[in-house]
Amino acid sequence: MFTQMRSARLHEPGKPLRIDRVERPKPLPNDVLIEVKACGVIPNMNAIFSGTLWNHLPPLPASVGLDAAGIVAEVGEDVTGVRRGERVYVNPWLSCGECAYCRRGEPMLCACAAFQGYFGFFPQSLRQLAAYPFGGFSEYITASPDRLVILPGAVSFDQGARFGYMGTSFAALRAGSVGGGSLIAINGITGTLGVGATLLALAMGATCILGLGRNREVMARLKSLAPERIHTLALGEAPVADWMREYTDGLGVDVLIDCSGRAAAAATTAEALHGLKRGGTAINIGALTQTLAIEPIRFMTSRLAFRGSNWFTNGEGQLMADIAGAGVLDLSPFTTQAYPLERVNEALEAVKARPGGLVNIVVHPDR
Ligand SMILES: [Zn+2]
Repeated sequence: MFTQMRSARLHEPGKPLRIDRVERPKPLPNDVLIEVKACGVIPNMNAIFSGTLWNHLPPLPASVGLDAAGIVAEVGEDVTGVRRGERVYVNPWLSCGECAYCRRGEPMLCACAAFQGYFGFFPQSLRQLAAYPFGGFSEYITASPDRLVILPGAVSFDQGARFGYMGTSFAALRAGSVGGGSLIAINGITGTLGVGATLLALAMGATCILGLGRNREVMARLKSLAPERIHTLALGEAPVADWMREYTDGLGVDVLIDCSGRAAAAATTAEALHGLKRGGTAINIGALTQTLAIEPIRFMTSRLAFRGSNWFTNGEGQLMADIAGAGVLDLSPFTTQAYPLERVNEALEAVKARPGGLVNIVVHPDR
C-alpha cells in the first residue's frame, strides 16, 4: 500500500492535462517534501506544453507545474537546516553541480539546466528532471533544501507562486545595477515580466520608470502606483526614443529591461535602444526571437551593452522575499485568480487571454 496524491500530468503535447492519482513521494535523505498551496500559471506555459518549441519536455506522462509555494511537510533524515511547517517558495531551477559551469560557481549557466515540472534546456537535462519528477500542479513535490526560499509571513502563497517571473525581472534589474536614482525603461510593461519589473524597480529606488506597452488600462493602473515616478507610452503614440529622452533631461535611461516575447517585433526594441543613456545597458528577458539590427559603432562609442538574462539565483529569490517581508517591495497590486487542481486546464485557458501582469493566475492543488 502507498499513500496517493493528485497530480496534473501532461500525457500528450498540446492536449489538456489530466488529474491522475499517483504515489505520494518520500523525500530522499537530502531532500524535503513540500505540501503545495499555490502554483503559478504563466503565459509561456501553453507554448511549452505544446511540445513544438526547442525545450526538452520530460518523458510523458509528466507531472507539471513550475512555480510552487507551500509548506515543508517532511524533511529527509540528513536535512538539518529546514524545519517541518516552514513556508517556502520552491525554486524549480535545477543545476547539476558537476559540469564545468557549476564547478566554477555559475549554476545559472549549468550545461544540464532544467526547470522542475517544466522542461530541460538540453537533452542531458533529463537526468535532473528524473531526480525531481513532480511539478507544482501536484499536492506534494520533493525538492532539495538549497532551492527553498523562506517566505516571510507577509508574503502569501499566491504571491510566492509569482516569484519565478518576479525573480527573472529582479535578476535583470540587478544585472543593470539598478538602484537609488536609476532611470529605467521597460519595454512590455503590462505583461507578467513587465509588471514584476515595475514593482521591483520601485522597491530598488529607481526614480524614473518609463513603460512601453499596448494595454492602456494596465498602464493606467501601473502609473497610479507612483504617478511621479512611472510614465507610460502606448506604442505608436510617439517616437519611442524621443519620448524616453523627454523624461530623462535629454540623456536617456540607464537600463532598458526588454520584455519583448517570442512573437514580438524587434522594431520596438531597436527604437528603445536609441533611448539608452551613454554607458547604458539593455537586457532582454522576454525571449525575443526576431533578429535585432544594431550599430556596433554606437555601442562602442557610447559604451553600451546588450545582454540577456534568464531566471535568478536562489540568493536573489531569498532577497526578494526578504524585501517583500520588510514592506520595501509591495506585492499588494497583484489580483489573484485562483483555480482548484481539477480546473487546472481552465487556468491554462485563462492565461491565453493575456489578462495583463497585474493578474496573478494560480492553481491551488490542495483544493
Ligand atoms: Zn551544471
